[in-house]
Amino acid sequence: MSIVLPTAALQTTQRKLAILADAAKYDASCSSSGTAKRNSVGGKGIGSTEGSGICHSYAPDGRCISLLKILLTNFCTYDCLYCVNRVSSNVQRARFTAEEVVKLTLDFYRRNCIEGLFLSSGIIQSPDYTMEQVVEVARCLREDHDFRGYIHLKTIPDASPELLARAGRYADRLSINIELPTQEGLEALAPEKDGPAIRRAMARLRIHIDDAKGAAQDQRRTSIIALPQSRKAQRTAAPRFAPGGQSTQMIVGADVTNDRTILQASASLYSAYRMRRVYYSAFSPIPDASPGLPLKQPPLMREHRLYQADWLIRFYGFSHDEIVPSAPDDTSSTTGGMLALDMDPKLAWALANRAQFPVCVNTAARDMLLRVPGLGVKAVVRILQARRVRQVRLDDLLRLHVPIKKVMPFVLLPDHHPGSTLEAANLAQLVKPAPLQGLLF
Ligand code: SF4
Repeated sequence: MSIVLPTAALQTTQRKLAILADAAKYDASCSSSGTAKRNSVGGKGIGSTEGSGICHSYAPDGRCISLLKILLTNFCTYDCLYCVNRVSSNVQRARFTAEEVVKLTLDFYRRNCIEGLFLSSGIIQSPDYTMEQVVEVARCLREDHDFRGYIHLKTIPDASPELLARAGRYADRLSINIELPTQEGLEALAPEKDGPAIRRAMARLRIHIDDAKGAAQDQRRTSIIALPQSRKAQRTAAPRFAPGGQSTQMIVGADVTNDRTILQASASLYSAYRMRRVYYSAFSPIPDASPGLPLKQPPLMREHRLYQADWLIRFYGFSHDEIVPSAPDDTSSTTGGMLALDMDPKLAWALANRAQFPVCVNTAARDMLLRVPGLGVKAVVRILQARRVRQVRLDDLLRLHVPIKKVMPFVLLPDHHPGSTLEAANLAQLVKPAPLQGLLF
């Protein structure tokens, strides 16, 4: 049954929704990949994540997914200079009650407009007070309405550990924005934010997430040897804590921090707090901006290159300082600690490290195949499978639909040798993709 609001209340809700959905659009960290499957079978619960989660973004399989992405309120007592909701900003303000967010979520869900909720908030009264309201939305959805859709809560690092622990019980994913990669950046642009407190909160989330995963694994192991009649009871006993893990977001281009420092910060976030994702959000100039902020947005291609570099760190075995070497090893393609905008970071690395090529496709280790420009993880898996039974030849690469022009100078095959192409001064021009007509620059 959908929720019917009186006309005046509906207009108020719609007005608040317009303001608070617009205020939430600057947060990029809403992808839902990696959530655990919720099962609505056998219950009267509403919705199911179908194992892939929900968001106003793209799932790992390329599917566009939707969620209700709003702020509980855009009132905020903090004055982060890059934020349109800061206390000194002259924007229209609005505030939902927890009950209103619950009603909206259920109503949108029942009308099949969304698959879940992404909820963030400005800080009102105190971090604990705000976090209580955010947690209450999730509690009410889960406990009072048996809501089984996706919930991503943006948490407030200064809130009490108990509140963060409660948030994890109801949410599929939690996130805490690191905002800026350096403490100096935070001090300059977000003076009320406390870098060490943000990292402490991330560490607490990691402990809870690891504990819950460990308990779930123990339970699975026990259930394998348990009698069939006791398996169901054991399944319901596992503690649950943000099965989709935690993520964070960094603003790019609001200060002078270069890409090397940003990637270094990301690498430390992935290893220390087991982040599921670090999101990069190109700074958008805002109305009434502080004079300390740039007047122009950084090129969107910079954000894109950072995502590519991040991918190399997570899935291709690169370290951040290989992708953007420190000063003595600096190359023309990574001048000043910045990623090249005109080519992807893997190609830039290969061009700067030509001595490591050509790579023999039939004998090279997986790690080295992954470093060949144009060969992705799936293509490398297929090559490794194929070469168990026979020699991989040029035709096989063509059948894999890899960008052959890009791959050929860097590989050896029984029927292909790159010859002196690798030494060519214009190799970058030969293998670079055609310019994108300035769309992302
Ligand atoms: S805490 Fe800072 S970033 Fe968050 S809403 Fe308030 S002003 Fe914006």
